[in-house]
Amino acid sequence: MSLRVVITAGGAGIGRATAEHFASAGARVSVCDIDASAVADVSRVTGVVGKVADVSDTVAVDRFMSESIDELGGLDVLINNAGIAGPGGALEDLDPDDVTRTLDVDVTSMFRTSRRAIPVMKQQGSGVIVNIASTAGLFGFPYRAPYAAAKWAVIGLTKTMAMELGEFGIRVNAVCPGSVAGPRMEHVVGLEAAASGRSVDEIRGGFERQVSLRSFVEAADIAETIGFLASPAASKITGQAIPVDGHTESMRT
Ligand code: NAD
Repeated sequence: MSLRVVITAGGAGIGRATAEHFASAGARVSVCDIDASAVADVSRVTGVVGKVADVSDTVAVDRFMSESIDELGGLDVLINNAGIAGPGGALEDLDPDDVTRTLDVDVTSMFRTSRRAIPVMKQQGSGVIVNIASTAGLFGFPYRAPYAAAKWAVIGLTKTMAMELGEFGIRVNAVCPGSVAGPRMEHVVGLEAAASGRSVDEIRGGFERQVSLRSFVEAADIAETIGFLASPAASKITGQAIPVDGHTESMRT
């Protein structure tokens, strides 16, 4: 039977690359995204069905999860990918509403999806959950406190879920992407340049110098690792936070 996969924020970036990765291996994939045109676009990929849902909306997530599980006839892999960069700036200048929004989209959303996936996986006696964290969940990250707090929370959540769910045959891991080449990283570079008063080139160079391999990663690199974690080859891997970042030792640019 083909693998049944749910991915949040699968309309672009890492989520989209992951949807394509699983679909090309024969999986049936249900993705949600807040962006209707991205949903229409990803739905053209064979094996992928997209639905519009905002992961910060509990009712919308309930509908997405229940329709997906019905249509797929169960659920083997849940990929909690949605996450926003949040505001940049010195901590004392941040608006608490922006902090709450970041934590909601990046962390609380994982509770919304997982609480619908877990009963199905428990009944099956098997399942894989992959939560997308970040290298920002492994280090402090100046001027990006809400994002760092959210991603450290994702790793704490992952380890706790692995402990709660292991006895039911459900594995839970986090993947920590480093800087991924693309428009989002350019946005992040711009945020940090504005927050620190330094130039965009200086900040981008700082991000590149953090990485031992001296290059940003590609969305497809993250998709490969998620695919491995969902495979039988990873059957004894759970509760881990796995960086895919070219090796990063610090988030100070
Ligand atoms: P992205 O910014 O490219 O966005 C991907 C999709 O998320 C978009 O189609 C967007 O419409 C959708 N989205 C945004 N808010 C949403 C919401 N509330 N509900 C549903 N969909 C929503 O994302 P990305 O760069 O591929 O990042 C994916 C994950 O990887 C995130 O959790 C992010 O924090 C993490 N990450 C990204 C990078 C990077 O450099 N891009 C690095 C480390 C970690």
